[in-house]
Amino acid sequence: MDGSTATAGALRAAFVDGTTTATMICEAALARIASRNAELGAMLAVDEASALRRAAALDAVDDRRRAGPLAAVPVAVKDNICTAGLTTTAGSRMLADFAPPYSATAVERLERAGAIVVGKANCDEFAMGSSSEHSAFGPVRNPWDRSRTPGGSSGGSAAAVAAGLVPLALGSDTGGSVRQPAALCGCVGVRPTYGRVSRHGLVAFASSLDQIGPLAATVRDAAVLLRVIAGRDAFDATTASAPVPDWEAALDGDVRGCRIGVPRHLLASGVDAEVSAAVTSALEVLASQGAEIREIALAHTDLAVPAYYLIATAEASSNLARYDGVRYGHRASGERALRAMYERSRAEGFGAEVKRRVILGTFVLSAGYIDAYYRQAQQAREQITAGFMAALDEVDLIAMPTSPTPAFPLGERLHDPVAMYLSDVFTVGASLAGIPALSIPCGLTAGGLPVGLQLAGRPFDEATLFRVADAFEREYGFRRPGPSGAGRRGGA
Ligand code: GLN
Repeated sequence: MDGSTATAGALRAAFVDGTTTATMICEAALARIASRNAELGAMLAVDEASALRRAAALDAVDDRRRAGPLAAVPVAVKDNICTAGLTTTAGSRMLADFAPPYSATAVERLERAGAIVVGKANCDEFAMGSSSEHSAFGPVRNPWDRSRTPGGSSGGSAAAVAAGLVPLALGSDTGGSVRQPAALCGCVGVRPTYGRVSRHGLVAFASSLDQIGPLAATVRDAAVLLRVIAGRDAFDATTASAPVPDWEAALDGDVRGCRIGVPRHLLASGVDAEVSAAVTSALEVLASQGAEIREIALAHTDLAVPAYYLIATAEASSNLARYDGVRYGHRASGERALRAMYERSRAEGFGAEVKRRVILGTFVLSAGYIDAYYRQAQQAREQITAGFMAALDEVDLIAMPTSPTPAFPLGERLHDPVAMYLSDVFTVGASLAGIPALSIPCGLTAGGLPVGLQLAGRPFDEATLFRVADAFEREYGFRRPGPSGAGRRGGA
């Protein structure tokens, strides 16, 4: 079996039926990382010894039929998600030496399901960015075209899956950081309903928006991974006790009668023509499969980017206050006065984008401005949410592009923050509304770059998202980066 193209499901099955061993699967993944990572920059810490120890432990179990749903599956974990004893830098100098004493709940659940964490995936610093260029440890490159960004902030996770280094990865999505890199790298990325997955052990960026989510080559793999990590957690009071269904079992390919709403007014301007064409033809495929495509209005979406960048920066300025070189993070040496030490530690530890956001967030929360900015943004958030809920009364799903453009060249938006922020125009809405959304590959541009279709659904109705995305995937298949861009068709 070729581990670089096999799905997580196929790898597990080969392990369970004895065709291969966890050690062989793990060694192959480590070898792929060793040979490709220098060119991609997708992975930061890789702990070969501990991954191989876990693989050996899985191989030592007699009855493999009792193995977990992700048994022997190598997984990359975004570097803002804590892994006990394995550095977790969040892409920041501030945490360059931080090896957490505990693992995030999502990581613990992965391991309990038999997965092998092979290493940490590069990302924008503190998950702030849309290109993975804001990492203190160098940018990630898009496996489809290494002169381009993989998107961000979970760019390392998406690139690792797209390049076939690992079949699965964890990312985090605050305003689009799982969905947008999935779109730009041609893989599946899921932002679960807010509260579906525990944030315990996720380095906080904007707590009312942050969610951990899966990146995978197929919808089925993403559904299995989400089921493993989802559900109530005593360590995160915002997790919901809603039952976690067996999403995989419900993938029947039947989308007849499913009502999909398309906010065409959003697509009128600013969307790349090839993105728009790929999304339109994907909707035609779904219509031919029996879905009912309707035009819908989605109110107040013009407020989404400004509201998101006020709320997210306000929460970030508060969450990042703890990194002062005393309680947490890098400490500057040589300062004798306390205040000077704080200032220099933060000046040295944080990169330019993080500083920009801390300053903006502190400003929007400051006395005299809080009503004009932060409170107004909260009101806009309520209106945006109401707009989504009204639309989801009429339709089962909302479809739109994940990103207005395909992968852009490295450096193109690096010094133009507003252009970078506008990369998120289609993803921040679902984040603010707290609803689930996923991105699925739906085409390639003439230049061979992937395009993502985004589907958003009702709170806790990931089932419909997975069912429709899987039906589409049966038609479209999955393509790996390569000269022809057509590695494999037909999904799982
Ligand atoms: N690109 C968005 C931002 O920079 C989203 C980031 C994220 O979802 N973590 O804030």
